[in-house]
Amino acid sequence: MRLWETKSWGVSAWRWRDRFRSVYIIGGERIRGIMRKVVKFGGSSLASAEQFKKVGNIIHEDAERKFVVPSAPGKRYDGDIKVTDMLYGCYALADADQDFSAELQAIRARYQEIVDGLELDLSLEEEFAVIGKMFGEKAGSNYAASRGEYLNGIIMAQYLGYEFVDAAQVIFFDEEGNFDADRTNEVLSARLAGCEAAVIPGFYGAMPDGSVKTFSRGGSDITGSIVAKAVKADVYENWTDVSGFLIADPHIIESPESIDVITYRELRELAYMGVPVLHEDAIFPVRQQGIPINIRNTNAPEDDGTWIVGSTCQKSRFVITGIAGKKGYCSVNIEKDMMNSEIGFGRKVLQAFEDSGISFEHMPSGIDTLTVFVHQDEFIHKEQKVVAAIHRLAEPESIEIESDLALIAVVGRGMKSTRGTAGRIFSALAHNNINVKMIDQGSSELNIIIGVANEDFENAIRAVYDIFVIAQL
Ligand code: ASP
Repeated sequence: MRLWETKSWGVSAWRWRDRFRSVYIIGGERIRGIMRKVVKFGGSSLASAEQFKKVGNIIHEDAERKFVVPSAPGKRYDGDIKVTDMLYGCYALADADQDFSAELQAIRARYQEIVDGLELDLSLEEEFAVIGKMFGEKAGSNYAASRGEYLNGIIMAQYLGYEFVDAAQVIFFDEEGNFDADRTNEVLSARLAGCEAAVIPGFYGAMPDGSVKTFSRGGSDITGSIVAKAVKADVYENWTDVSGFLIADPHIIESPESIDVITYRELRELAYMGVPVLHEDAIFPVRQQGIPINIRNTNAPEDDGTWIVGSTCQKSRFVITGIAGKKGYCSVNIEKDMMNSEIGFGRKVLQAFEDSGISFEHMPSGIDTLTVFVHQDEFIHKEQKVVAAIHRLAEPESIEIESDLALIAVVGRGMKSTRGTAGRIFSALAHNNINVKMIDQGSSELNIIIGVANEDFENAIRAVYDIFVIAQL
């Protein structure tokens, strides 16, 4: 998982934490020792023995942290290689019938360093003998990659004195390779009901024939969520190397404010606009159960991080929760007199895009105009084909294409109950000489999407941030 870096928390963070504490208590006698927390630690949190010790302290400090989902060891420093990548590389050699012993040895050394640093009485000799043999027999790259989490799980279980539960025994995929949520939940919850405390490695499960299959990259986030659902956790803590989400990209805004609480829907809007957050599929299992996710920082456990919740009556600190955007869009502007009364016009236009396999991002419309926003890199090679198809299917008067556009999403549950948000955005942009090419307010009033030229992208984000955040501090 990658997140925008964040800075330390201020007083307000403590205020939020207290609020959440009281929510738990109101939530039904879940006082001290009865709450269940599933804790997932990312690769950077488990990259070395030193990091493992921090994780151990975090777990021991709270008796409610009973179910632990580890990733494989990540990077120890800039330029280091994640164990998952080492495993893929090593297996590629095995698959090509080349000698992979040195690469496997290097992976083993990564784990040995952790085992030694933790002073554990644990030998991975047999495990590596099996892995070497399986690589030789071409067990597949899924099996190979999964060993990163598997071995880290064994070490973690021994270090904590928790039971080790192999994910291949409790997390399942169907014949098509899709995650089998029902079977998994049935088996996993029954298995964990009998455990006082357990470590379940992230990232993988098993196919119906028992072979190992992984989720897509970053998939330990998904395992954490699945485990949280299975044990009916009160909270899913996702520990990483930053203290939560930021309101805007720190590459554009210097030291942006943090997000205390964000709803799943707001997060989805921001993630869609390119904010690097949790693995997308990690939201679904916990969201279904109303389990909040708390993003925390292993290197700064005193920070409260960001809470991701289903819904909340907690007002966000600012009218907006976050701003995000992407460059590289084209707009296709289609004009036709009396378009508004022509039944099926929109469908015919979209048919032209569909026939070329192009998905559209937004489609604002006027009385006699309709604009379709598409990704420039997807569209550029097919533009003439699409234009010809629109002419053929919809018979417009004119079609104009504009390129190098950026879309910016201003997201916030607070917008619904605040008057003048759009007005403030547009006056801020006008004051900064930014020409607005498009505006689209979602019907949920959760977001306002603005189209500007690529070159105005950063300035537009700064202008919006200034008016809603800086001006309110
Ligand atoms: N180790 C896997 C990866 O690097 C899964 C994860 O860390 O979530 O993608």
